Amino acid sequence: MEQATEQQQTPVAVVTGAARGIGQATAWRFAEGGYDLALFDLDAAWLEETVAGIEQRGRRALCRAVDVCDSDAVKAAVADVVAEWGQIDVLVNNAGITKDGLLIRMSDEDWSQVLQINLTGTFLMTRAVAKHMMKKRRGAIVNVASIIGKMGNAGQANYAASKGGVIALTKTSAKELAPRNIRVNAVAPGFIRTKMTDQLSEEVQKKMLDAIPQARFGEPEDVANAIFFLAGDQAAYVNGQALNICGGMVT
Ligand code: NAD
Repeated sequence: MEQATEQQQTPVAVVTGAARGIGQATAWRFAEGGYDLALFDLDAAWLEETVAGIEQRGRRALCRAVDVCDSDAVKAAVADVVAEWGQIDVLVNNAGITKDGLLIRMSDEDWSQVLQINLTGTFLMTRAVAKHMMKKRRGAIVNVASIIGKMGNAGQANYAASKGGVIALTKTSAKELAPRNIRVNAVAPGFIRTKMTDQLSEEVQKKMLDAIPQARFGEPEDVANAIFFLAGDQAAYVNGQALNICGGMVT
């Protein structure tokens, strides 16, 4: 029988925007699936609850305060994870914001900030982590887009453009990285119950609910499960896709 030459190591996933909502649920899902987690968010102290949940599940967490649109900070934090744990198997680009407003009234700043965090942040993280994954010749990246990036939405020109951009970036990086055995996919969530959507008025929430055939909002865990699937070997031949997680709202 052949002797294993390399010790089997615990796989490592990096999740951005991991302090709450979909990012937190995703970190916990990967911990349940046997991963150690590197958690990036604007403030490392915000990550305490996520870390506690990971440790309860018997896995390790590494926290870094990183603004995903700060290229140098992204490079340094990714280098730290590689120095500490020697590998990154999965990257989940989840950090994102909204700054809604009608197109004609939208400020330059609100436009730029949403594009910077949602789209440029995804690019910067992908570039930094892909360099490492290419050397290892393996890896999976899952980008958190949005159904709004496919269908558009009045009052969300910046957000829709950023998420449409994330889907295009997903398809392109999938094509570029496939020869190095790295898959890149996206999820396109519909209305998921988090702090981001709690801010919406009751009237808007009711309108959204009426449009969902499954007659309920999604939970962060619904998205986390899909991300976990796309990152794993069960999805070995799924590449460059943007999977809707929206209770049948968009088919
Ligand atoms: P959330 O606001 O609850 O959490 C977002 C996290 O990202 C926060 O912890 C925040 O601190 C962090 N973050 C923000 N800017 C950052 C930056 N520059 N660098 C690092 N971290 C940063 O949001 P959520 O609802 O959990 O959304 C997570 C992702 O899912 C976002 O990309 C969002 O666009 C997407 N999404 C959400 C919904 C929904 O209904 N909630 C629907 C579709 C897509």
